[in-house]
Amino acid sequence: MIPVQGYQGRSVAVLGLGRSGLAAARALVAGGATALLWDDSPEARAKAEAEGFQLTDLTRQAAFDGVAALITSPGIPHLYPAPNKVILRALELGIPVDNDIGLFFRSYATSDWDDFETTPRVVCVTGSNGKSTTTALIHHILEVAGRPCQMAGNIGRGVLDIEPAQDGEVVVLELSSYQTELARALTPDVAVFTNLSPDHLDRHGGYGGYFSAKRRLFAEGGPDRAVIGVDEVEGRYLAGQLAEGPQDDRVIRVSSGTKLEGFGWAVFARKGFLAEWRRGKQVASIDLREMAGLPGAHNHQNACAAYAACRSLGVAPKLIEGALASFAGLPHRSQLVGEKAGVRFVNDSKATNVDSAAKALQAFGAIRWIAGGLGKEGGIKDLLPFVGSVKKAYLIGHSAREFALALGDVPHEICETMARAVARAAEEAVAGEVVLLAPAAASFDQYPNFEVRGDDFTALVKALVG
Ligand code: ADP
Repeated sequence: MIPVQGYQGRSVAVLGLGRSGLAAARALVAGGATALLWDDSPEARAKAEAEGFQLTDLTRQAAFDGVAALITSPGIPHLYPAPNKVILRALELGIPVDNDIGLFFRSYATSDWDDFETTPRVVCVTGSNGKSTTTALIHHILEVAGRPCQMAGNIGRGVLDIEPAQDGEVVVLELSSYQTELARALTPDVAVFTNLSPDHLDRHGGYGGYFSAKRRLFAEGGPDRAVIGVDEVEGRYLAGQLAEGPQDDRVIRVSSGTKLEGFGWAVFARKGFLAEWRRGKQVASIDLREMAGLPGAHNHQNACAAYAACRSLGVAPKLIEGALASFAGLPHRSQLVGEKAGVRFVNDSKATNVDSAAKALQAFGAIRWIAGGLGKEGGIKDLLPFVGSVKKAYLIGHSAREFALALGDVPHEICETMARAVARAAEEAVAGEVVLLAPAAASFDQYPNFEVRGDDFTALVKALVG
């Protein structure tokens, strides 16, 4: 745990008692603060009480008397579409609103560091898609390179939950736009921006708000090194804004598909090969085509971003190449979960939006596509350019009929449930085809989350392939 500095002897309110909220409460107490805990959900409150915390009803009028700050969780709206009423009250009273990420950046460095030979460093990864894969890949490469490292953030472990720093350690954090928008301190040594496509627009008041939430990672103090995916105009804008000029190698530009020429430092993938160029010379080339954990151009983008981040930390290209080859991939992202009679079954339950589903559809050849769930604003019309390799779609969940309408002439069948979709797709698939779960929709109509949806698909496939 990282004890929180700066609030000793003071009261700090914590709203939202999920994984990161409880970790923040523990870390505040460890740093000598009094934590006042609240959650709108009775179940979450009961869990905190079971851990021995006392609750304070933050919705009461006088709840903020003597409170130094309010710490909130990423799932709770703090601005759009409307702030949660507890947050609104804090804003009205002028009480600083922060999150666990802000607390982490003000607390990670301690006087122990004076004795370290190598100062610990923090790498943060943000972007619309590929954050978890890139974060896990950076962590894996550092592990293979024998560097002390820890991984946390949006990827599953609260940032304040990690161990205090060791000499020369690297902490790798995955940060969502909700987290970067709110953190009052945000000072990574290396910051990575993977890509940008529309998501969570209601929480950010539109696309511009969403982009500026992510850009905050590069604004506060500025990282020593910025790794920026430049396949969208927003990435090109950000890279241009951070660099003194094209030769400034504090910015490493990354692309999947475009040869980046004339820059101080660039890493790109084309036709399955990763290339690193520095000051006009090619430094390395890596064949990504046989890397089982990183299929498709989207994963090549992740590989380039992780490669660039690790190069900026001094890891050698050969070492990174070996680590890319041994990366197993993450569950629910282009994950091969079974194979029978030449048919491969791939779980990409994490493809909850149109952009990630489009990437999955481009990563494979002949596809039996399982899609549907709780569709997002705008439906799937933007996916139509990418359905060329779809043999047939098997539609499930709330949006099945809406997706069917949008698909028009593309062969499809309404299956309603995952069980039926898997059975039908398996029945009709022939050798060489891929049965791909890439829903292009959230899971909440039929499942608690995308992990349970992916597990359901996997269990059905396992039962089928034996
Ligand atoms: P995030 O943490 O940003 O949601 P993940 O690594 O969990 O990213 O991947 C989310 C979804 O997006 C998965 O369906 C995955 O296959 C797909 N994906 C992964 N990397 C990329 C990328 N670079 N561009 C677009 N889609 C991607």
